[in-house]
Amino acid sequence: MPFQRLNDDILDIILTHAADFAVVLAATLTHKRWHAAYTHHKAGIDRRVLVRVMGPRRIAAALCSIRTKAWVGPCREFTIPGQPAVEEIINRDFRECHMDLRISDAEFPILLEYARVCHQLELEYSRWSEDRPTQRARSPAERDAFQLSVYRLWRFSLFCSDDCVFQDASNDDLFSDPGFRAKIFYAAYTAQEIHNLHAIIDWMREVIGRYGSAGSMSSHTIRMCCIVGGPQTVLNIIKTPHKCRTILEAVRGLVYADRQGCAGDPRFIYEARNLLATTAAVNAIPASVDRRIITPHLYEPLCWKCLAGPGVPLFNHNNWENSPLDIRIDDSLPNWLQGNLKYNDGERRAFLQYLGIPDANTPSYKRVKGIPTIRGMTVARMFQALCCLNPRAQSVRDADTVAPGPDEFHGLTRNSLLCHECLGRLVQARLWLFWWRVKEAHSEGEARKANCWFGYLCDQQFAYHAANFNHVCRPTWEERMARGRGA
Ligand SMILES: [Zn+2]
Ligand SMILES: [Zn+2]
Repeated sequence: MPFQRLNDDILDIILTHAADFAVVLAATLTHKRWHAAYTHHKAGIDRRVLVRVMGPRRIAAALCSIRTKAWVGPCREFTIPGQPAVEEIINRDFRECHMDLRISDAEFPILLEYARVCHQLELEYSRWSEDRPTQRARSPAERDAFQLSVYRLWRFSLFCSDDCVFQDASNDDLFSDPGFRAKIFYAAYTAQEIHNLHAIIDWMREVIGRYGSAGSMSSHTIRMCCIVGGPQTVLNIIKTPHKCRTILEAVRGLVYADRQGCAGDPRFIYEARNLLATTAAVNAIPASVDRRIITPHLYEPLCWKCLAGPGVPLFNHNNWENSPLDIRIDDSLPNWLQGNLKYNDGERRAFLQYLGIPDANTPSYKRVKGIPTIRGMTVARMFQALCCLNPRAQSVRDADTVAPGPDEFHGLTRNSLLCHECLGRLVQARLWLFWWRVKEAHSEGEARKANCWFGYLCDQQFAYHAANFNHVCRPTWEERMARGRGA
């Protein structure tokens, strides 16, 4: 049947079967009849699409958080005489498996908002996973585990956030006790589900560390902020990383309830449920718990240099551009030069001239003689050059300038995976050497200058001394002294 002859009810039904909201939106943009059908029945279509996209398990998890909050929020007394304790009521009446899946009009907008936040976090999570060169797509089980964990985090957050009964000063100790957390929250979940939730909280803490400056906050406090503030707080930081500190400081609730940021909770539960002996290794996991559900990187390779991992983001030529390292091809690049070289104005200027970058500190300067300007330097090209660089001496002059023998990155190739720290060490170890080779190759004047005995560590890198001695070299003072003493 041609599209024009389909009646409105059929369009309506088709829209409610869209795979997700993006499809609904796309349809409304393609034809005015789709648009009209959607605007006339928006509420109904939204609800049906959301229910199908989420599926019963995730809806139950989200509704459980929403309903627990609605019930616990106004309840300011922990125990009401003659009534069961709050924890008993929560465990009896607010369990995912017992949730009535009918969504009330008041609950729907909250559910929609939870789904939106969860979706955005999941996008970020998959981007994060793609940064790891695994090329491994996440399975539906992993996606399910991720989303369930996010919906459950709202519920966990409720028990320690500002508007919960356990925030009451006289009750502070309640949430601080892992036994109480076990009773009020963990009792409803399997060991696997608890593992998944904490793996996601660990990821959130890591993301915050990567995106924003949290000031002097410890990683345990940041972890606790993820729990107290909940998924929305984490998303806010991802969206506005420059406000990271303000957002974290604004998190109200039991931020200091646990010194480990609740990181020890899974272990506590494993032992309490006799899944793990108290003598098991610190980060042991019960045999029944599958790490892979949410930590596919377990099977990833380790850092080439320090063997860090698994679970640590690694970088090679496939993703250098995405490295979180603060390395940019602008006038901040000379700051990566070794020792005091970064304070040497002459070297700085010549290096920036080579890269074709205007120096904000000295906007009008004369060109440094002999140093050319290359075009199109990128972060990836810089890493490529550092990887390929041979750190051994290439000439007699070199022998006095570079360290003897192979350096700590000897054998590294563009395929070698490095963690964040080691990537930074590579730049520290080789950027000055790279710069030395450029000078040596292009400027006879520079290559002829005698090496300062204190090399890049010299603290007199200015004026006459800096103009007459090369400082892009290793310190040889001690070596010379030893030779002088006839050693
Ligand atoms: Zn490493
Ligand atoms: Zn010097």
